[in-house]
Order: sequence, then structure tokens, then C-alpha cells
Amino acid sequence: MKLGKVKYCKKCVIPSSSAIPVEFNDEGICSGCLTSQQIDTVDWVRREQQLKRLLDQYRSKDGTNYDCIIPVSSGKDSYFQIHTIKNIYGMNPLLVTYNANNWMPEGTTNLVNMRETFGCDHIFFTPSISLLKRLNRLCYRMMGDMNWHAHCGIQTYPYIVAVQHNVSLLIDGEHGFMDLGGMHSYSDYVELTQRFRLEHVQRGYDWYDMIDDERDKIQKQEMISYMFPSDAAIKRVGVRGIYLGNYIKWSGNNNAAIAKTYGWQEADAEFERTYRKISNLDDMHENGIHDYMKYIKFGYGRATDHVCKDIREGRLSREQGIEIVKQRDSIKPKDLYRWLEYVDMSEEEFDQIADSFRDPSVWERDTQGKWVKDNIWD
Ligand SMILES: [Zn+2]
Repeated sequence: MKLGKVKYCKKCVIPSSSAIPVEFNDEGICSGCLTSQQIDTVDWVRREQQLKRLLDQYRSKDGTNYDCIIPVSSGKDSYFQIHTIKNIYGMNPLLVTYNANNWMPEGTTNLVNMRETFGCDHIFFTPSISLLKRLNRLCYRMMGDMNWHAHCGIQTYPYIVAVQHNVSLLIDGEHGFMDLGGMHSYSDYVELTQRFRLEHVQRGYDWYDMIDDERDKIQKQEMISYMFPSDAAIKRVGVRGIYLGNYIKWSGNNNAAIAKTYGWQEADAEFERTYRKISNLDDMHENGIHDYMKYIKFGYGRATDHVCKDIREGRLSREQGIEIVKQRDSIKPKDLYRWLEYVDMSEEEFDQIADSFRDPSVWERDTQGKWVKDNIWD
């Protein structure tokens, strides 16, 4: 059945309902595919020279402070960032992790190994678990995203540390929206800003939106670690966040190969909702129930994202990709039951809330009341 609501890229499998804004050209090719084609035209030798000059500006002159901060999860990209910044360019980084408290066993092993292998100082920040449970539940009810706290924490806490420690350079990995959706061009040299953090990563919500809910009572002082430093503090320290992906040719698959040379391990088994075993080992719900909500809202999930990346890298054909999407995107994953217990919610309430977030430009009910949408294989 064709509803005609959603169209799909002719080269990859991204839908027009993508959570990351995409545009299509006259040939029906998406902005993500077009931006990813730029990768082969960028002069990466020159970019690395630019990176070297940039890093030299921020090196501590007298060895009394860290040269930079690297926000890390202990994933493949974290390993690649530390490998590049410390072992290739000889910087002295301070590693900062926001702990979302939902590790997979493989993720924990990689975390311990990361500390032992690279020999860097590491700040591992754990918010109150009681607060995390309330934020999970509240943000699920509020925006259908139980992991809002992690999106906010990962983007905010390293900046707080930067200000506290007077470190002015923060080095992130890739700009996910640019890589997948083509939100910017490689010639924009886009940096990590407070505006991108708030408007996109945090869906427009900030710490103050979480205060005084009747059910999940959260107080202002509990949200201290989600408060972005003031403009004056950022200006005093001169904090700037760059993406390594603007200076070094970025590929999650290649990063995983380099990470493995340092003892990093991929997941033991495939996830229910995606075939890639190299992503999100620091949070068991990220590839699970959090991603299922993307399917509920926008009609596609992480299998689609991973297929898009692998088609663009020439690792999968579009036909193979469509088959994967068909098998994976609609699965309601079993980690749901761990999450429901964690936050004390019934599956019935979960489903009711989920349905309230279905995008009407994607979904409609058929004559039997079943939710239906366009599919790429229709
Ligand atoms: Zn595409």
C-alpha cells in the first residue's frame, strides 16, 4: 500500500521524514549522499596541516595545564580521537565522560581498557542515579526521548570541565548531522556551539524545562551539571569546540579498525535493531528502545542510518540495504523490559505515550485501526 507521504533517496535509503533535516536534488539524491561525496574532493593533507597549526596554538606553553579536552564514551570514535590527538600529535588531553548508567558489558571492558592503554587523566562523571531515572521517565513523557539527559550531558559537562580547568580547546569527533544528513558542507568548518547543542541535540529543551514536573519532581539544584557555562565564563577561558571530522577523513568503520589495534572490542552479538556491532556500546538502550522511538516517530531507525553510511562507503548495495531495513527497522527490542523496570513504567503506558508521538506526516491508521506508513520496498 502506498500512502505517498514519504519519499526515499534514490542512492541510499534515507526517508524524507528523517529526524536530521535532509533535502533532495532533482535526481532524487539526498543532501547526506551529496555531502558525503565531498569527502573524496577535500584536500586532506592540507586539512591535517591546518589541524597541526590549530593544535599548536592550544598546547600548554609551560606544561602546567592540559592542552585540550576530549569528550569520550570509550567507543571506537573515542579511541580514534585519543589515538590521533595524543599518539599522533603529542597533545596532553584530559578525557571527560558523562556516565548515562546504561553500559553494555563490552562497553565497560572498553572503558577500563581505554584508561589502561592510553595513559590519560580521565574525569568520569556520574549524575545521581535517582535523578537519571526521573529524567529518563520525564523526558520520555515530554518528548518521547528517554536519553535527552545523555544528549545534554555529553554536550554540556565537558564544557563545564573546560571552564573549571581553564582548558580552551575541546575536540569532538564527527558532526553527526553533517555526516548523515548533509546539514553543513566540509568547507564550512562548522564547530560545536551552544546553539547547535540546544536547538538540535537537545530538541530545544534545556535544564529549566525539567523543573517542577508534578510526577517526576526535579529541583533546580539537581540540574547543575546540565547548565551550560555562562557566556562570560566561556569568553574568559576562550573555550572552543572543534570536530576532528573536519580535519581528518572520518569513517566509523576505519575508526573501529584502528581502535581494535588498541584492544577495543566490538559487541559480542548483533543488536536487534542494527547489524553494526561497533556503535553505542556505552548505552544498551541507544540501539534499542531509544532507537525504536525514532521508528515510532519518523518511521525509520538506526539500521537505516547505518545502511546509508555503508552504501555511501561502498560497503553495501542499495538492494542489500533495503533488505536489512525491512528486517530491522520495525523491531520492538527486548531491552524495553529492562528500561521499564529501571524507570518503573508499565508497557501499556509506554505504548500509549509512544503512539502520541507518531508523526502524522508519516503514519496513519488503516481501516482496522493498525498503524501504517510508506515503506521503501513498496
Ligand atoms: Zn542519500
